[in-house]
Amino acid sequence: MSVSEMTQVRDVRHFVGGAWIDRESTESRTNPADPTDLVSRAPDADRGVVAEAVEAAQEATHPWGALSAQERGAVVAEAARILDGRAAEIAQLLTREEGKTLAEAAGEVDRAVRMLTFYAAQAWHPLGATLPSADGRTHLYTTRVPVGVVGLITPWNFPVAIPVWKLAPALVAGNSVVLKPSSYVPATTQALLECFVEAGIPAGVLNVVYGSGSRAGQALVDDERVAALSFTGSSGVGRGINLAAAARMARVQLEMGGKNAMVVLPDADPAAAADLCVRGAFGLTGQACTATSRVIVLRGDEHRLLDALVARTAEIVTGDPLDPRTTMGPVVTDRQLATDVGYVDQALAAGAELVAGGTAEGLFLEPTILRNVHRDSAIANEEVFGPVLSVLVADSREDAVNLLNSTEYGLTAGVVTNDVESAMSFARDADAGVIKINRQTPGTDVNAPFGGNRSSSNGLFREQGLTATEFFTRVKTVYLGY
Ligand code: NAD
Repeated sequence: MSVSEMTQVRDVRHFVGGAWIDRESTESRTNPADPTDLVSRAPDADRGVVAEAVEAAQEATHPWGALSAQERGAVVAEAARILDGRAAEIAQLLTREEGKTLAEAAGEVDRAVRMLTFYAAQAWHPLGATLPSADGRTHLYTTRVPVGVVGLITPWNFPVAIPVWKLAPALVAGNSVVLKPSSYVPATTQALLECFVEAGIPAGVLNVVYGSGSRAGQALVDDERVAALSFTGSSGVGRGINLAAAARMARVQLEMGGKNAMVVLPDADPAAAADLCVRGAFGLTGQACTATSRVIVLRGDEHRLLDALVARTAEIVTGDPLDPRTTMGPVVTDRQLATDVGYVDQALAAGAELVAGGTAEGLFLEPTILRNVHRDSAIANEEVFGPVLSVLVADSREDAVNLLNSTEYGLTAGVVTNDVESAMSFARDADAGVIKINRQTPGTDVNAPFGGNRSSSNGLFREQGLTATEFFTRVKTVYLGY
């Protein structure tokens, strides 16, 4: 890639009905690692642009749905091939715009390619069942049909993978889509969109509008023609979308925040446990819904683990995420940094102690570990969404699981142990959508269902894996007499 491509300012345009729409760009996004590097300029959609996008999607629904699933799958497979061919360039752009390291960005793009490939193959998968009918002269079967126009609203922290894990099953199932990504990542979204355009997605099937959540996002949520809304983001915004969607009887899928914990039991090797905790807490700068935000250790075992956590954290290299030696990039925005530092300051004022990190320069916050964290404090219960790890002490294995389950969230939960009984009891008792035994809390396989419990999800439909198709289709039952 040339130097000019690496520093190029991307002008982002809405994509509606197969056309790039020229609107004044009012939003600028600079590189979180270098505020002098202007990455993109993007427009802020008003309700009119969103309505045009929904109308274009509505017009495209029938012809797209009338194609065979294999024909739709072929477009998605081609988008996978094109994304794979542009992987290095798009990973670089993702890093410039969002701030995760180049290795993390490359991993995300690779995951998106695998997702597209997986859902393209689902076009060949059976969708219904044949049922024995009470009437011997009736052939009774079920099939699944597309829901129609779907609205996808996505966050900034996985700007390639999250749109893809919604788009791919939605498109293969025969829906048309309006995507409203986070306004922090417009250029990365446009690069992903270009892959679908080059792959030959028909006009109106995939529309993308950029802008604020409160205006563009809300317009999509409120539009009566949008039959289903799939949202990933914070629990507060998700609650509002849930209420608005319920009022107009729209189908809604919400995947939201987390306060994930890793329980380290006394039989665990401290260095191996610390490695899982540190990678889970500080990978992706802690800006993952599945990040390890709490470590729970049994009383008497704390010091052994703390020493290992501090030693492993010291290996992290914070800096320019485009530099291949860097293992942790900056926080995404000033606002997120203020949130992270605010939680740390509040915890320190309440008696917690820093054992690592705690200071920031620019948007680079050192990987931060706190001990003596009170279990009722804000930092022990609320999502931080930054490189901050709290170590909490439990009195017993049962107390550890109760502590793990005591927040409003239930996305991922981990345990480190070699004891089968402890591991299986944990898998049964931890109230989370995803359980990790001797594995870090972030990271999922593309073919496995993903989603949370309680305030982490509305829990009706799981994303990813084969279950994703359930949200994007309705069951139709057919009685055929002969
Ligand atoms: P956010 O809730 O601020 O925004 C998410 C999206 O919603 C953005 O596109 C935003 O513009 C839009 N939005 C905001 N207000 C809206 C409204 N009133 N109506 C419609 N849309 C609106 O979240 P964020 O800061 O972009 O992302 C971080 C959050 O996402 C964290 O809480 C994280 O845990 C969560 N997240 C969850 C998952 C998961 O799968 N569970 C994955 C990644 C991130």
